[in-house]
Amino acid sequence: MFAVHYAGKTDRGLRREHNEDAYSVRHGTLGGFVVADGLGGHAGGEIASQLAVESIDESLLEILKDLSRETETEELETSVLKAMGKANDLVRDRAKKDAALTGMGCTLLTAIVYESRATIAQVGDCRAYMWTAETLTQLTTDHTVVADMIAKGTLDPEQAQHHPYFHVLERAVGIETDVRADVRTIDIHAGDRLLLCSDGLWNMLDDDQLSAILSEREDTERCVTHLISEANHMGGEDNITVVLVDIGEDA
Ligand code: CA
Repeated sequence: MFAVHYAGKTDRGLRREHNEDAYSVRHGTLGGFVVADGLGGHAGGEIASQLAVESIDESLLEILKDLSRETETEELETSVLKAMGKANDLVRDRAKKDAALTGMGCTLLTAIVYESRATIAQVGDCRAYMWTAETLTQLTTDHTVVADMIAKGTLDPEQAQHHPYFHVLERAVGIETDVRADVRTIDIHAGDRLLLCSDGLWNMLDDDQLSAILSEREDTERCVTHLISEANHMGGEDNITVVLVDIGEDA
């Protein structure tokens, strides 16, 4: 079992009037982390992301309570996907009850860090990155029209940022009856830094900029603050949310 240090912070950024991001590290000591981003232009984005985070948090507590060394990866992944489905139902039910909230949704990312593994589930375009052995790897796939076009080879990655559909999501929580979330489990090692963030961070800072800050090895909280201030320095065009989980030596 590794000693885990974590910190989370959200910031409105410099251009938006509201912060529609939400996050939770409430169950961080047990290894549960969540980030969500309310859908821009939709009514109630703020409510959707908050509801989704609260719902996942509740499910995480149940999941984490029952986790043991014997828990199979597949079993854990199934539980996390179920939790995403539950959050989806909750957001949809709430939207049905209030006409002003019709069409609200959010992106959702959750990570469970347990023993020597991390299980990550996401829908939308929040990202999880792993900084390991001085190398940054993106663990999640964006569910955007543009990311899909790049994967199919119909769009040059360099042109992506200027594409008119750059911000258009293909999947989100609250939109369809069944949410289509991705889930994966990776091995973790002492010294790894697991970064969870909303698009307000990665739209402002590219991989090299993220790597430069993570490689400075500031303490967890300071690094989170540094990432957010740098995203604001680069324009702060959207709400910025960062959760950083540092994997320490064996406890
Ligand atoms: Ca955003």
